[in-house]
Amino acid sequence: MQTKILLDESEIPSQWYNIQADLPSPLDPPLHPGTRQPVTPDDLRPIFPMELIRQEVSTQRTIDIPGEVRDILSLWRPSPLYRAYRLERHLKTPAKIYYKWEGVSPPGSHKPNTAVAQAFYNQKEGIERIATETGAGQWGSALAFATQLFDMDCTVYMVRASYDQKPYRKIMMQVYNAECIPSPSDRTEAGKKVQREHPGTPGSLGIAISEAVEDAATHDNTNYSLGSVLNHVCLHQTVIGLEAKEQLARADTYPDVVIGCVGGGSNFAGLSFPFIGDTLKGKTTGTEIIAVEPAACPTLTKGLYAYDFGDVAGLTPLLKMFTLGHDFIPPAIHAGGLRYHGVAPLVARLVHDGMISPRSYYQNEVFDAAVAFARTEGIIVAPEAAHAVKAVIDVALDCRKTGEEKTIVFNNSGHGHFDLSSYESYFTGGLIDYEYPAELIRESLANLPKMG
Ligand SMILES: *Cc1c(COP(=O)(O)O)cnc(C)c1O
Repeated sequence: MQTKILLDESEIPSQWYNIQADLPSPLDPPLHPGTRQPVTPDDLRPIFPMELIRQEVSTQRTIDIPGEVRDILSLWRPSPLYRAYRLERHLKTPAKIYYKWEGVSPPGSHKPNTAVAQAFYNQKEGIERIATETGAGQWGSALAFATQLFDMDCTVYMVRASYDQKPYRKIMMQVYNAECIPSPSDRTEAGKKVQREHPGTPGSLGIAISEAVEDAATHDNTNYSLGSVLNHVCLHQTVIGLEAKEQLARADTYPDVVIGCVGGGSNFAGLSFPFIGDTLKGKTTGTEIIAVEPAACPTLTKGLYAYDFGDVAGLTPLLKMFTLGHDFIPPAIHAGGLRYHGVAPLVARLVHDGMISPRSYYQNEVFDAAVAFARTEGIIVAPEAAHAVKAVIDVALDCRKTGEEKTIVFNNSGHGHFDLSSYESYFTGGLIDYEYPAELIRESLANLPKMG
């Protein structure tokens, strides 16, 4: 009985898997917000390094991981694949449950997998500082960790409400030598304008994005970086699925069901794309791929597959994705990482094509699952990852009814050590089972940008 399946450091993948190579037809291109024409590399050059722009549009099946990046990934990769024997016993399920544990990275989630690669390419192209936004602080702390290792500066615009309410991620960024600024700030025209118009505003991710992009666009030595959604971010996360596939092979199995939670879609893509690729290439059939989101922000289950802006102000390129509308304001549910109105265009396309089945859950059932997991497997998962755990338990209980011995693998995307106040709310009955009203979704979808 082997609980952990571990790989040697020499088995950290040497190439990322690019699912764009195996799509039956190309992705719809991002469009310029002004002209509505496809975005050109020159449009992106002021804020992204050339290599990441190339990766964004590449249709090459594999892309080499630079040695410098693999060196840093070796601080925590290959991450362990666990067999959840104790959860299986608790559920009395014949299913075999495995999980990839990404909470072993120093900042505690999957996010450094791309932060390290992005910092590397920026440094290589002479960039000295990266600006970004963060909501709850997971992405900011991952990028702060990565930039520090490449001797770069890092400026993180953190949504004011989180900056005030969740000080620990901010302190973590400071430990990693980053500057963490509450947004809206006085550093940018965008931030000053919002403060003039809405004094005392708690800020939003959309405002913080506008500030970070403006900072990068107005400083030659500074670029911008995004922690999810974009194709190159999903690409960098495929180390998760590539390792998992090898680890499952060592256990003589291949998954029947692959599960991940979806905010922008990157940890889900990282685990699932190598398995979906097997199906697209005709190597496997019948693998069920489940994407889990909160009922309070039901992008994949209730949104529309359409072009929309990535930010509230409508400054970013238009992406073809599932969206709840760029002026959708998600309620303050605790899974801060799952509150985005849109989703990765690659994940959206595969949902649209029927390769991925989305489902949504309420907060209290998600935390029921998280607590059951902690009391059997020991790990206190991040509220985001808890959505995946809930789906795993449901599938495993279905197996108990049918007697099927399915192999289930899920991405345990991070630990919840900085999210204990959410667990506290769960214990004290303070979590709201909110479902985003259909009428409000119809209203925000009515404001989608008109296409020519
Ligand atoms: C940020 C985050 C997520 C959501 O982001 P994705 O891009 O959808 O993966 C999920 N889990 C954890 C632990 C996170 O930090």
